[in-house]
Amino acid sequence: MKLFIDGDTQTGQSTEWVHDPSTGEKLQEVPLASTEQVDQAVAAARKAFPGWADTSPADRARALLKLADRLEENAAELADLEARNVGKPKFLADFELPFIADNLRFFAGAARCLEGRSAGEYTAGRTSWIRREPIGVIAQIAPWNYPLMMAGWKIGPALAAGNTVVLKPSEMTPLTTFRLAELAADLFPAGVFNVVNGHGATVGAHLCQHKEVDMVSLTGDVGTGKEVARAASQSLKRVHLELGGKAPVIIYDDADLDLVVETVKFAGYMNTGQDCTAACRIYAQAGIHDRLVERLSAAIDSMVVGEPNLENCEMGPLISQRQRERVQGFLERAKAHKHLEFLAGKQKLNPNGFFLPPTIVTGARHEDEMVQKEVFGPVITITRFSDEAQALQWANGVDYGLSASVWTRDLDKAMRATKYLHFGCVWVNDHGTLVSEMPHGGFKHSGYGKDMSSYALDDYTDAKHVMVRLGALG
Ligand code: NAD
Repeated sequence: MKLFIDGDTQTGQSTEWVHDPSTGEKLQEVPLASTEQVDQAVAAARKAFPGWADTSPADRARALLKLADRLEENAAELADLEARNVGKPKFLADFELPFIADNLRFFAGAARCLEGRSAGEYTAGRTSWIRREPIGVIAQIAPWNYPLMMAGWKIGPALAAGNTVVLKPSEMTPLTTFRLAELAADLFPAGVFNVVNGHGATVGAHLCQHKEVDMVSLTGDVGTGKEVARAASQSLKRVHLELGGKAPVIIYDDADLDLVVETVKFAGYMNTGQDCTAACRIYAQAGIHDRLVERLSAAIDSMVVGEPNLENCEMGPLISQRQRERVQGFLERAKAHKHLEFLAGKQKLNPNGFFLPPTIVTGARHEDEMVQKEVFGPVITITRFSDEAQALQWANGVDYGLSASVWTRDLDKAMRATKYLHFGCVWVNDHGTLVSEMPHGGFKHSGYGKDMSSYALDDYTDAKHVMVRLGALG
C-alpha cells in the first residue's frame, strides 16, 4: 500500500496500522504522508491542471470509463478489502461496487454535455456566451463509512470537469483508495489524480490551508465541516460539504406496514447505522405505532450480525472502539430518562470486535438527545404522533437536513409532506435509494454542494461570461 503522487507511488514518511473492526486485530500497515509529501501532491496537481483542463471532454470521459471498467474487473477484490476494512457485510460491499462504476460512467457522459445556459445579444453590438471552467486543484477529503464510494462520488465530477485532485481517504479506511490509485495509475497524466493518506488534524488541515488548493470537498462530520470551512475561508477557497444527517421517517396509519418494516430494517441498520441517510428517527401515527414496534422488534431479533463473510450477514460491527463508545454514551445517557424503553437484538456478538446489537428506543420525545443528534450507530428512535402538522414540524425540527421519508397511500398527505419537509432528498414509500442522475446533498447543517448528478458538475465548475463587441475584431 503506497501513496500516489505525481503519477508515482511513494512510501509514507511514517506508517500506522488500520484495524479489523470485526476482531479488533491489526489488519494492514499503511503509509502516512508528511507535510512535504502533501505539498508535492498539491504542486503536481497544480502543474497538471492546465493540461488536463485543456483535454477534450471525450478524452476525460474515456479515462473515467476505463476506470469504471477496472473497478468492475476488480470488484470482488475491492469489495473484500472494503468489507474487511470497514467491517461491513460482504453483500453490502458487493452492492456498492457496481454503483460506484455507474457513477463514474454517469460523469464520463455528463462531461460531454456540459453547456453554458445562454448565448446571445443582450445589449446592442455585443454578443455574450457562457463558458463552464474547471476550478483548479481540488482537495477531496473522504469519510470511513463508504470509503471507495465516497472517493468515486468525489473524483467523478471533479475530474470530468477538468480539475485535478488530491484525495485524502479517512485514516481508518484507506485500503480501497490505495487500490483505486493503483488501478487509475496509467489512466490519467501524472499529477491529475493524487492520493495522500493521513489524519484530519495534519494532512486534512494542511490541505484546507494550502494556498495552491482552490477548493476543498469534504464528506464528514458537521464539526469537521465547520473546521474545514473556517480554514478554507482564510484563502477564500470554495467549499463543498456533505455532512451528517438525522433522517425522519414519518409513518402514517395507512402505510404498507410490511414495506415499512422491510425497508426500515435495511435502511436503519445498513452499514451498522453509520450512514448519513440512515432511517433512524421514526415518527409513527397512533394507529400504526404499536404494530410497528412489535414488527420491528421481531425484525431486529432475527438479524444476522457478525463479521463480513458470515453467511447471510446483515450487519457488522462499528468502525472503531471509539465509535462504539460514542454510541454507548448516547444509550447510557438516554437510560437516565424513564420515558424511554430499549429493545435490543439478542444476537451473540464477538466481544473483541466493535459490535453493538441493533436497538430500538421507543417512547422517544422530540427534544431527547438521541432524537436531535446524529448517533451514527445501530439505533432507531420511535416517537408516536397523532397530529400530522405536529409530526412534520418535529421532522424539520433538527439541525440536519439531508434526507427524509414519508409512508402513506394518500397522495395528498405525500404531496404536503414532500413540499413541507426541509431536506435535500425526500422519499415517498422508500428510504435510502440513490441514483447517479439525481443529486445527493444536504440543507442546513448537513452541508452545501451536491454529489452525483449534473448539479455536482455545477459545483466543480465556474461560469465565465465572455462578451465580444461586434465589428471590432479585424
Ligand atoms: P470525520 O469528520 O471524522 O472525518 C471525515 C474526514 O475528514 C476524514 O478523512 C478525516 O481525516 C478528515 N478530517 C477530520 N478533521 C479534519 C480537519 N480538521 N481538517 C481536514 N480534514 C479533517 O467524519 P467520519 O467520522 O469519517 O464520517 C462520519 C460522518 O460523515 C458522519 O457525520 C456522516 O453523517 C458523514 N457522512 C455524510 C455523507 C453525506 O453524503 N452527507 C456521507 C457519508 C458520511
